[in-house]
Amino acid sequence: MKISNKTILITGATDGIGKVLAIEFSKLGSNIILLGRDASKLDKVYDQLDQSNASQKHLILEADLALLNHESAHEILKAITSEYNSLDGIINNAAILGTMTTLEDYELSRWDEVLNINLRAPFILSKTLKPALENASDPRIIFTSSGVAKIGRAFWGAYSVSKFGLKGLAEIFANELESTSSIKVFNFDPGATQTKMRASARPAEDPSSLKTPSELVDCYLWFFSEESSNSKKHYFEYDELSRKVTST
Ligand code: NAP
Repeated sequence: MKISNKTILITGATDGIGKVLAIEFSKLGSNIILLGRDASKLDKVYDQLDQSNASQKHLILEADLALLNHESAHEILKAITSEYNSLDGIINNAAILGTMTTLEDYELSRWDEVLNINLRAPFILSKTLKPALENASDPRIIFTSSGVAKIGRAFWGAYSVSKFGLKGLAEIFANELESTSSIKVFNFDPGATQTKMRASARPAEDPSSLKTPSELVDCYLWFFSEESSNSKKHYFEYDELSRKVTST
């Protein structure tokens, strides 16, 4: 899987899955664009990126995705196109869990925050950065799903609704782009993974019983492979994809 010299934007790159993907992809020679809301966490991750290849160039974009709008997304496009000739991929990874409560008790401001970060921001970012992606030879947009995108479960509220919405968004993007663009769109459910989000969703669970974010790297790499260029399928879950990547 040739990931070296590819330029990849990872949202929510300051923690959990996004942080590990950023560090591991940099070791494989990618240029990493770290997007996060916390400047000091971004600096710390930047310092852990591999820069051993002299042609590698990483970039920090500080942005609160809860506040992303047309103007700030265009600022992001400008920042990327002034540093790189093209963008090979966006991993729309950032999300928040919101509150685990009934719909009846769900606070409206919290509901809006979850929907803005988890659903509205990936929509704005992906549509705005499309011109930069189209300058790449085999570009990707990856959305991040969840088990609660398929079945509505009590207390998962806005998070679950945002992932249902994201599934629709990914399908629509995939369908619109398949005949008009070289951009491939995927939606991936990484499954239960040892991160701070999982710990706040399931505080009683033993984190050591879960896979680590590092175990997801091969799955994310597959999305940038030649094999995935021919995939007719857009939606993948960890169990299925990990079997596929280990058998190839
Ligand atoms: P995490 O450890 O909580 O990391 C989430 C990342 O998103 C952090 O870097 C966080 O930044 C960032 N973020 C949150 N709000 C943001 C905002 N307003 N602007 C910019 N960045 C923001 O979560 P994770 O478990 O790695 O989750 C990654 C993705 O996998 C999510 O889409 C999640 O829904 C999905 N997922 C996870 C699991 C699991 O078991 N972990 C299962 C299924 C799906 P800060 O560092 O500033 O908080």
